[in-house]
Amino acid sequence: MNSLMTNLNNPSTLLAEIYRIYDDFSTPEASACRKGCSACCTRNVTLTSLEGSCIVHYLNENNRMNLLEKVAEQRHEPRFRPEITLNGLTESLARGEEQPEEVYPLEGKCPLLENDLCAVYPARPFGCRCFQSRRNCCETGYADVDPFTLSVNHLFLQFIEHVDAGGIFANLTDMLIYIASQANLEAYDDHSVRECPAPFIRNRPLSMLFIPPEHRDGIRGLWSKLQGIRVPAA
Ligand code: SF4
Ligand code: SF4
Repeated sequence: MNSLMTNLNNPSTLLAEIYRIYDDFSTPEASACRKGCSACCTRNVTLTSLEGSCIVHYLNENNRMNLLEKVAEQRHEPRFRPEITLNGLTESLARGEEQPEEVYPLEGKCPLLENDLCAVYPARPFGCRCFQSRRNCCETGYADVDPFTLSVNHLFLQFIEHVDAGGIFANLTDMLIYIASQANLEAYDDHSVRECPAPFIRNRPLSMLFIPPEHRDGIRGLWSKLQGIRVPAA
């Protein structure tokens, strides 16, 4: 995996290119997801600091930094706080280690949700982009995702973590409060986050894929496209 040669001089352009490749793959018309359907927009969303910094920049560029106050108001609310990243989990499973049970609080809307619409839609993290269900979750009570799409989602999540391996991973509320409080947001822009205080965890480089054998041939083309990303410096 060390052969991944991705230019990180322009993180938002890099993410845009990753998202473009995913958009080419995905078929939104095959999903039941519709504008205003927001049952999946909970306080449990997680993301990398790369994605978090893009959200903060988006809010800044659109004069919506006031939304961060709403995010900060939720600092004491229950939410999912990850203890391991997907790349870390993949390595741990390969070592045969037992995984602690993770707790996902059921209540609570994402602080970036306004009138059932995402206030940062163009900059929403990949975990939100890839969350699509073939049937309306409000009717079924769960998201219906086909297994191959799930594998593709894992591929992209692992890749984004890989390119942000100098950064950190956390719940969206924690991440935005932390990034917005930093005097120098540029530390995130140049991919040089040094600190990793609790409840954050360190992103890990990709050393193996979390893809079942039956899907490995199918993801090969997308994997090549991701490896081939070359983003011009800003
Ligand atoms: S994943 Fe479920 S709740 Fe979310 S937009 Fe799609 S159908 Fe609606
Ligand atoms: S960031 Fe946007 S899309 Fe994601 S959970 Fe929050 S409101 Fe929904």
